Amino acid sequence: MDIIVLKPTATEEDIRHIAKKLAGKGLKANISRGTERTIIGVIGDTSRVSEDEENAIKAIECVESVMRILKPYKLASRDFKKEDTLIDVKGNVIGGRKIQVMAGPCAVENRVVLVSIAEKVKAAGATFIRGGAFKPRTSPYTFMGLGEEGLEILAEARRITGLPIVTELMDPRDIGVVAEYADIIQIGARNMQNFRLLLEVGEINKPVLLKRGLSATIKEWLMAAEYIMSRGNHQVILCERGIRTFETATRNTLDLSAVPVLKGLTHLPVVVDPSHGVGKWEYVIPMARAAVAAGADGLIIEVHTNPEEALSDGEQSLKPDVFGRLMEEIRPVAEAVGREV
Ligand code: PEP
Ligand code: MN
Repeated sequence: MDIIVLKPTATEEDIRHIAKKLAGKGLKANISRGTERTIIGVIGDTSRVSEDEENAIKAIECVESVMRILKPYKLASRDFKKEDTLIDVKGNVIGGRKIQVMAGPCAVENRVVLVSIAEKVKAAGATFIRGGAFKPRTSPYTFMGLGEEGLEILAEARRITGLPIVTELMDPRDIGVVAEYADIIQIGARNMQNFRLLLEVGEINKPVLLKRGLSATIKEWLMAAEYIMSRGNHQVILCERGIRTFETATRNTLDLSAVPVLKGLTHLPVVVDPSHGVGKWEYVIPMARAAVAAGADGLIIEVHTNPEEALSDGEQSLKPDVFGRLMEEIRPVAEAVGREV
């Protein structure tokens, strides 16, 4: 028993009664009030609930039906919630009709460069500024980000442009400071299965952009989302950023089939990162168009005023004018699939 569907007549008292019963079995109730029905997600090891116990729940008057979810993720599953999840970040709704575009450098390098990039991407139509202050680098001898100073620079760019901030959290020890500045907390590919980190962001009330792990299956990725959601934070945005394959012509292989697959399996919004997906700036625009055509709810794009001098990921960063072209080129594609930019 994973889901308890209540009759439309169920009262708050009924819900409390069921939650108490579940608590007695060591299980938690996750209440989801839909427009027509209230659904209780049963959190915990539900395999221990016997058939008799399940029948007893079914017999409660306000209960309409009881279901088992065969998938290992529940809260993230479409079976649990049919309607798409909309995540409102300062008036920018992720998962709605409008495609949200998050743009900015790989890393925050200094104030002048970041503010200049933020102003340019805003003018081109971006709705979020991205930039890492804590950078997960393959080599410990390369630039690892400015830390809190980088967050302060992001906040200044937000003050100037009004664009909300997407920035990465790598370590649970930094959650306080990152949450203070970020509007969306990014969990990077390398940390997709850092379960302690996932549980920590699950405790806070802030949207999380969960990037797909380098070699993660869609099921593993949804289980990572489930970790966050199991702690109460349901504001999870999934981000496809390419996976490891045998192909070397591109940095990763951007798995755009993940978009329709996820749309079927989960109600969570899906964003695509073609920059890390391909690793070369020339291929970013075509894959951004393709992502929108495939049904992505948003894009996250690396942009730099001087890619040659960028401290990280310069080779995949778009110059601002090329980013402007990207925005123009995705517009008709968005319209063709019933969306807008
Ligand atoms: C990034 O967004 O700059 C980044 C490090 O991405 P990923 O975790 O997908 O490699
Ligand atoms: Mn990067």
